[in-house]
Amino acid sequence: MPCTKEGVIMSIERIDENQCNGCGICVNSCPMDVIRMDEERKKAIARYPEDCTLCAVCEIDCPQHAIYIAPTKQVPVPMCWGL
Ligand code: SF4
Ligand code: SF4
Repeated sequence: MPCTKEGVIMSIERIDENQCNGCGICVNSCPMDVIRMDEERKKAIARYPEDCTLCAVCEIDCPQHAIYIAPTKQVPVPMCWGL
């Protein structure tokens, strides 16, 4: 599970696999390089969610409306050792 030094996760809420058609637009849209394609399943995944800034560009650009952003979502998690 990703975590930050503050112990807070901030990321896109989810990518709906059933809606995603694997077009790859979101991979190129994300300025933070968060999203990658799962090449086997041909679905977008949030590979580096800890880098997400919640800018919502991916959500706006997705033609399938498969990406959900939760701007206020901040989930407290235990601090990670070694950070
Ligand atoms: S832009 Fe939307 S439909 Fe296209 S790969 Fe990303 S999540 Fe899937
Ligand atoms: S909200 Fe912005 S930073 Fe986060 S995955 Fe989408 S495009 Fe990338």
